[in-house]
Amino acid sequence: MSAGFPIFQTQARSILSPTTGFIAAAGFTHSLTPARNCTFGCTYCYVPTLRIYGGLKPEDWKRWGQFTTVKANAAALLGRQLQPAQRIYCSPLVDPYQPAEADAKLMPAILEALCANPPAVFVVQTRGPLIVRDLDALRALARRTRLRVSFSLTTDREDVRKLFEPRCAPLQERLEAMAALREAGIEVYAALAPILPCDPEALTQIALENTSFPIVADPLHIRATKACGATTREQGVRLAALRGFTRWLEAEFQTECTAAMRRLAGNAGRGFATGPEGFSCLAQL
Ligand code: SF4
Repeated sequence: MSAGFPIFQTQARSILSPTTGFIAAAGFTHSLTPARNCTFGCTYCYVPTLRIYGGLKPEDWKRWGQFTTVKANAAALLGRQLQPAQRIYCSPLVDPYQPAEADAKLMPAILEALCANPPAVFVVQTRGPLIVRDLDALRALARRTRLRVSFSLTTDREDVRKLFEPRCAPLQERLEAMAALREAGIEVYAALAPILPCDPEALTQIALENTSFPIVADPLHIRATKACGATTREQGVRLAALRGFTRWLEAEFQTECTAAMRRLAGNAGRGFATGPEGFSCLAQL
């Protein structure tokens, strides 16, 4: 158990998956997913809407966020599957520094395996300040490959954070983790994804002040602009309706919002892009 979450173990057949869809379009060749099911359990999470296409089992999408199953042999498999040309995204299906990782401790061995056989690019996508636990291993890996940490910043409003992602750290704690990573010489990006109800310009300003690379962003996924694939989970849609935030799920409003953010970033001389184009800066050599 971890903070009340059951942690199960499995022996995976493979740990690196060739990419398809969004992440492939961004330029990544492989994804690395160390666990099935994410104990952050965000109300809007896209992953359970993928069902079997996300490699999930029915108990995962029915009880999303209530437990996790870690791939106990991840590091051993990596030793056999890593290749120098790979551009790896970790992970489109789970946060590698989800709460259960505090006990599961899979990432230190994974980082060590990456260090031994470094790929061309390795990106950690997270919102978990727990990542600073592995600062030394990350620093070592940054010397061996193009390591990037993409930190999810979803809103500048603490009331919104508590509503939509109550198990995630407050913004300030994420910024402190980003500062620690940057001080260690690691490339840190801000991923404003998904964009939850917020002051869009204030959130962009925070991203500008706490990073020095292009800003990655993505509005909440909706069927109006994305006919198939993963989309916003029903629980998040219901919450938005209950709390008067439905315009954040409307295409026209999302376009206005990202245009204002792009303008502000542009005025600061920084890139800003959404969708696969946004994430593509993370995959570059
Ligand atoms: S941290 Fe990411 S993968 Fe985990 S529940 Fe939240 S949105 Fe889903």
